[in-house]
Amino acid sequence: MKNTTNAVPGLAAGTTIGVVGAGTMGNGIAAVALRAGHTVKLYDTRQEALPKAAEAIASIAARWVKKGDIPPADQAAYQARLVLVSDVQALHDCGLVIEAIIEDLEIKTALFKSLEHCVAADAILASNTSSISITAIGAGLQQPERLVGMHFFNPATVLPLVEVVSGEATAPAIADLIAATAKAWGKSPVHCRSTPGFIVNRVARPFYAEAMLALQEQACSKGTLDAALRDAGGFRMGPLELMDLIGHDTNFAVTRSVYNSFFQDPRYKPSLIQQALVDAGWLGRKSGRGFHLYAENAPAPAVELAPAEKPPAQAVVQGEFTGAGLLAELANEHGMKIERRAGPGAILLDDVQILPCTGEAATSLAVKAGTDNIVLFDASTDYRKASLVVLAKADQCSREALASATGFFQALGKGVTVIDDVPGLLVLRTLCMLANEAAEAVCHGIASPADVDTAMIKGVNYPIGPLAWADAYGSDNVVSVLENLASAYPDGRYRPSALLRRKALSRQRWHAEGANQ
Ligand code: NAD
Repeated sequence: MKNTTNAVPGLAAGTTIGVVGAGTMGNGIAAVALRAGHTVKLYDTRQEALPKAAEAIASIAARWVKKGDIPPADQAAYQARLVLVSDVQALHDCGLVIEAIIEDLEIKTALFKSLEHCVAADAILASNTSSISITAIGAGLQQPERLVGMHFFNPATVLPLVEVVSGEATAPAIADLIAATAKAWGKSPVHCRSTPGFIVNRVARPFYAEAMLALQEQACSKGTLDAALRDAGGFRMGPLELMDLIGHDTNFAVTRSVYNSFFQDPRYKPSLIQQALVDAGWLGRKSGRGFHLYAENAPAPAVELAPAEKPPAQAVVQGEFTGAGLLAELANEHGMKIERRAGPGAILLDDVQILPCTGEAATSLAVKAGTDNIVLFDASTDYRKASLVVLAKADQCSREALASATGFFQALGKGVTVIDDVPGLLVLRTLCMLANEAAEAVCHGIASPADVDTAMIKGVNYPIGPLAWADAYGSDNVVSVLENLASAYPDGRYRPSALLRRKALSRQRWHAEGANQ
């Protein structure tokens, strides 16, 4: 799959754009196209939806004026260029028609069949579907080569990502033209092949699944789990609060659909925990309760912070694990005397070994090493910015040893949370599984490494692309974490992608050194 760098220009501003479906997505897409200077014809089978859509679009434009994004005169111009139509035939002069109707293959195919007959032979047909195969929709058409996925994210006026999805029959020139058009409309397009979940809804699955697996094993409280991914992982929201926002009915349905589309691959297995939430009707924010409570005056989810411990005066930072230099620097800055020493990666305090998590439980490492006092610390996308560090101790580790390890990180100005000794802890297992899923998508030619990372940053606000993170952490290290997880959970879920293994062996990066991902 090529990168999305557009040499071709987008559709001319004089092209009339048709939008079918005057709902949440259709209205947002229409507003984006109006802002780009097009005349937009908006069609819906529900008559009453059209005036409501005009109102919704007017209030989007008013918001843009208020923010100073567009001059006030544009608001009236949008109104003049928005044409509400109640007959599909009225779309006959559109150069591009974007469909945003109900998520149903038969209904979408029927619509595209009627569109084929009313638009010009060179008009482009696009679907905003989030889960239906573009190949399957195209199968019923006379000219499937002009059908392409143009997947905006909600809200379409705010989120920059557009996945440009090619079915088996989609002409590459059409996909290029739609990507260029999306770019001209101020969006960040990425190319991908039509496979279940496209890029974002597939690569993001482990963000939710790993959290629910850790929760199922009672690794920590829900508030702690979210705080770890937010404050140590650098994600804008924790996975549980994000699922509460999306709605568990929607999130569970997407997971089930991806799982079934991949013929029950254990990598995408849905969670019984989420099934229970759906069964209970605890769908998240919209129902007042999901993983967390949303009633007025509901307490904020509690984060279990370790009590303050005595800071050590000195420590040894041994070896070259990810973050070693930064942690030594931070400790120095906070007045600790640090000795740097060659050897296996560890932070050493008297008789305590604080080890970077590598996917193996602390208890198992302690048994292998024949020493009790082993404490693991979790990964972070940025140890300097992180306000929280996640620790876990071996079952046989003493309280005093854990207190010393806690004191080390607290001395660096970090909050510390101690969770149960689950393999891969919270952040590391999530980052490695995101990288693995991203690698598998690249391996299967779904999208380029650059487009996968762009999709996750622009579509779901990840702090770093999963593959750029793999470059920083080392693909060889990601593989060994996954192998450790696979030996703890031998159900196939954690098998490393073949391409990730190759990168690990050849030590090739996913992105050129210094690429800004
Ligand atoms: P919605 O229910 O808000 O709006 C759908 C509109 O389509 C309704 O107004 C309905 O009357 C109209 N409609 C239904 N069948 C029609 C037909 N045959 N011809 C013309 N109009 C018809 O739905 P939505 O949330 O805007 O989703 C629309 C599409 O966008 C779906 O394919 C969905 O998967 C996809 N999508 C949704 C989101 C999201 O977060 N809502 C994000 C990305 C993509």
